Amino acid sequence: MARIRFRNVRHAYPPPKGQDPVYALNEINQVWEDGGAYALLGPSGCGKTTLLNIISGLLTPSEGEILFDGEEVTHFPTSRRQIAQVFQFPVVYDTMTVFDNLAFPLRNRGMAETLVKERVEQIAQMLDLTANLKKRAAGLTADGKQKISLGRGLVRSDVNAILFDEPLTVIDPHLKWQLRSKLKELHQQVGVTMIYVTHDQVEALTFAEKVVVMYDGLVVQVGTPVELFNQPRHTFVGYFIGSPGMNVFSCRVDGGQPVFHNNLLKTSHRVKGELHGKLEVGVRPEFIEFARDGIPVRIEKIEDLGRYQVLTLTHESEIIKMVIKEDQDIPAENPRIQFDPDHTRIYCDDWLVEETIHA
Ligand code: ADP
Ligand code: MG
Repeated sequence: MARIRFRNVRHAYPPPKGQDPVYALNEINQVWEDGGAYALLGPSGCGKTTLLNIISGLLTPSEGEILFDGEEVTHFPTSRRQIAQVFQFPVVYDTMTVFDNLAFPLRNRGMAETLVKERVEQIAQMLDLTANLKKRAAGLTADGKQKISLGRGLVRSDVNAILFDEPLTVIDPHLKWQLRSKLKELHQQVGVTMIYVTHDQVEALTFAEKVVVMYDGLVVQVGTPVELFNQPRHTFVGYFIGSPGMNVFSCRVDGGQPVFHNNLLKTSHRVKGELHGKLEVGVRPEFIEFARDGIPVRIEKIEDLGRYQVLTLTHESEIIKMVIKEDQDIPAENPRIQFDPDHTRIYCDDWLVEETIHA
């Protein structure tokens, strides 16, 4: 097992003739601690697969270095890295039995057959594949094949890390939930570093201790689910985490405080000094409440989601999402709202302005 470190890693795929390279990864500096459970979360095309392939050695980055426990491995082939990788779509040998598929990574490293048997049976049991061990992989459903792929990723105990690249995409929703819990359980048992890629926030938040949020070739924030919720460092984290996502409004800043359509907003994160760039104020729908002397709004829509309600409000031309408990009253006339000062934050060019004075 190893601590994995990226130092100034950038990657551009070879561009079409005559065009400039576009970076799929921009300046990644990250440390994945030994034994951690990480989720890599971001929209399609943000660079997640590129990053995994750089860890496993399928890809050499255009710039920068990768270190395993302090040793540089940037130019090591995959075989020298001891990384298990599970891809989005099943990679199985159709003509082999399920047993032989699972045994493959172990036999490949010359493990004694009695140990192979023991380990394969253990993994098969965990993934509910025991009854299929003697069957040919070709006869299995897509779910079954992907379970073999997962099993092949999990079967070795001598790996530095296991990388999962959206491994549950082809799996039906119920089984998905089961497998995700199994992976988490397994992580707790064996403690090997796991990096789990997904574009699904629920999946990321349930699997991981630390969520690494990527956007446009950059890691924009690493944090626990609570940190990502309470303190989004980038407007993208605000939008992407939470449902509905954070409200982000264009604003100006006066005396360190945000001004939203001529309403001076209270914030406990008053900004120091001058700001240059696109200025926005962010507040999550959960941190808005009705208040007698607040900002006047119109209620456009009320969605009842059981334990809470999602309100769509407007002020001037701005759409505001608000979340309240199911039993909370909605003013019948002249509704006005206020934002929780502890959760009202200023963003400059999409990044949280961190230089603040606590008011
Ligand atoms: P993700 O896994 O987050 O969806 P990828 O790492 O696959 O993202 O892709 C990141 C960017 O790199 C995308 O813009 C994608 O089009 C581009 N890309 C990925 N693979 C290749 C490739 N083999 N050749 C050229 N461009 C690629
Ligand atoms: Mg991908």
